[in-house]
Amino acid sequence: MSNIIYCPICKNTTNLDNSNLFRPFCSERCRLIDLGKWVDEKYSITDKPALDDEQTYPEVH
Ligand SMILES: [Zn+2]
Repeated sequence: MSNIIYCPICKNTTNLDNSNLFRPFCSERCRLIDLGKWVDEKYSITDKPALDDEQTYPEVH
């Protein structure tokens, strides 16, 4: 039985069984790259509401 998949980061083949601690990625490096992308998105989302608040304030006279 083989559970061969393609790593979503580097597109290399990797296996999806329990011995692969980094599944669905091929290695820790690819897992961290994906994690880094996620953290980046989170930061830009939390940054935006603060800017929007400042822009609506001057309109209240
Ligand atoms: Zn990879």
